[in-house]
Amino acid sequence: MADTFDIIVIGAGIAGASIAAHLAETKRVLILEMEDRPGFHTTGRSAATFEPNYGPPPMLAFTRASNMFFTNPPQGFTDGPLLVPRSSLFFEAEGQENFTKNLLASGSGLEELSEVQARKLFPILREGYAKRTFLDPHTGDLDVDLLHRGYLKLFKARGGQLLNSAAAETILRPGHVWEVISPQGIFEAEFLVNAAGAWGDVVAAKAGVKPIGLQPKRRSIGVIPVDGIPGVASFPMVTDVGETWYAKPQSGKMMVSSADATPVDPHDAYADDMAIAEGIERLMNATTIEVNHLDHSWGGLRTFASDGAPVIGFDPHTEGFFWLVGQGGYGIQSAPALSRTAAAMVLGEKPPQDVRDAGLVLAEILPDRF
Ligand SMILES: Cc1cc2nc3c(=O)[nH]c(=O)nc-3n(C[C@H](O)[C@H](O)[C@H](O)COP(=O)(O)OP(=O)(O)OC[C@H]3O[C@@H](n4cnc5c(N)ncnc54)[C@H](O)[C@@H]3O)c2cc1C
Repeated sequence: MADTFDIIVIGAGIAGASIAAHLAETKRVLILEMEDRPGFHTTGRSAATFEPNYGPPPMLAFTRASNMFFTNPPQGFTDGPLLVPRSSLFFEAEGQENFTKNLLASGSGLEELSEVQARKLFPILREGYAKRTFLDPHTGDLDVDLLHRGYLKLFKARGGQLLNSAAAETILRPGHVWEVISPQGIFEAEFLVNAAGAWGDVVAAKAGVKPIGLQPKRRSIGVIPVDGIPGVASFPMVTDVGETWYAKPQSGKMMVSSADATPVDPHDAYADDMAIAEGIERLMNATTIEVNHLDHSWGGLRTFASDGAPVIGFDPHTEGFFWLVGQGGYGIQSAPALSRTAAAMVLGEKPPQDVRDAGLVLAEILPDRF
């Protein structure tokens, strides 16, 4: 006998946890997570940055519409701040004029700084590296763990059920309901939400739904000791406008990445040592920092559809199959507004007005664009 729910969400990363928390307000919702704990894959491996000028247009809209949630979360959602302000500096390195044009065209609230002003905020900037520098004062560090746990707590408080070690192995549609077979049992529901991250197309194929061509891309992050450099904790997030490297303080050390985006199959990602070495080399080229060893590193998968925008909505050919994938490198900073929007769409409602006011164009996220 199958246990029956209204909605089964596959995947307990930030996407699955946040939409499920909204849906559980009025529906019986089950989350199935294949790992033995939620957040094991991409959600647990991000750089935890809030950058409202970063991403394709729908992600800009979701991120900007999420700001309020991060700074003023609902009572009881969290016992600490979700967002701690940390400004960002964008450096135009030699030959990156076109990237500056793009940044200025889509960005808002950016302020150009002189080299002297830039060095006041980031004293280790190497003289002559930055042709131009832009300050984004509206960025910050997100507490991903608090955000994720907040949604899971809300989900459970609303009667939702989460099963770990419960991979959706077989997905059938014998009649008008979905039947999902997992090591934890057999479950039925009218609606299936595919929030499987890098495995989004794998889950679709299991359900007999045509994959949309999602591409997981590996990104590697290294953490370096920065002993002897005063004031590191208050350094801004720093990057070049061409996104060939970025760095920011982390627990008294500094994280650095070459912003690698290597296409790979879905798997338990690990850091690419070569990519980290490149990131460190670019950081040393841009700053006066000397890096002698790596403290630790990790890798994660950022998953993209072919146009770089997220895929949110019911599959146009298969009844009751809802896509919630392709959040790329912006799935945390956008989660509050993105999940509210996705939950409204599952319930057959319009996207929330504030998200549309922030610039969301529905056609840019629907799966029928492929
Ligand atoms: C290095 C790096 C840096 C990043 N930095 C940022 C940043 O600064 N800011 C930002 O906003 N975003 C950032 N991101 C992106 C962000 O982390 C992702 O967009 C987000 O975590 C995606 O969440 P998700 O829930 O879709 O995926 P995941 O967290 O991967 O969750 C998907 C879940 O589905 C489960 N699953 C898969 N198949 C099945 C199945 N058959 N049955 C059951 N469960 C299944 C998986 O186990 C997994 O837990 C970064 C990503 C990386 C890798």
